[in-house]
Amino acid sequence: MKPGNKDKLYIYQRDLKRCFYCGKKLKFHQITLDHYFPVSKGGTNDIFNLVTCCKRCNKLKGDFLPDNYERVILQLFLVAVEDDKIIGSGLNIDNKKLKEELLKVDRIESITDKFIFQSDSMRFYIKNNYVIKVVYIGGFK
Ligand SMILES: [Zn+2]
Repeated sequence: MKPGNKDKLYIYQRDLKRCFYCGKKLKFHQITLDHYFPVSKGGTNDIFNLVTCCKRCNKLKGDFLPDNYERVILQLFLVAVEDDKIIGSGLNIDNKKLKEELLKVDRIESITDKFIFQSDSMRFYIKNNYVIKVVYIGGFK
C-alpha cells in the first residue's frame, strides 16, 4: 500500500519541512519520501519507516541501510504512537491501553514483510500503521 497524501503531509510536518538527511528546507511539492529501512531489504510504507527527503539525497541514499536504523525507526515509531497514528485493528485491547503499552516499546524484534516491535512484556505486529497482532511474552511488572 502506497502512503496517501495524508500520511505524506504528516511525515512532512513531523520532519519540520526539512530533508531528513541534509536539513534543506523543502516545499511540500518538492519532497520525496525515503524508506529509512529500504524496500529492497523488506522495509514497508509505515509512516515510521518514511522520512522527508530531497530528490538529491534520495538518489544518493538509494537502498543503503544506515547503521542507526533501529534507533531512528524506534524513535519515529514512538512519535507516531504519541500522535495517535498507530492504532489497533481487530484486537481485544482498547486503543488507550494499547497506546500505553506501545509507548513501552524499546526494540525492533524483526523486519521481514512487516515490523515487529517489542517491549519487556509484549510483542506488536504492525502492518500499514495498524497493530494487527499482540503477543504477551513476559511477566507483568
Ligand atoms: Zn537532502
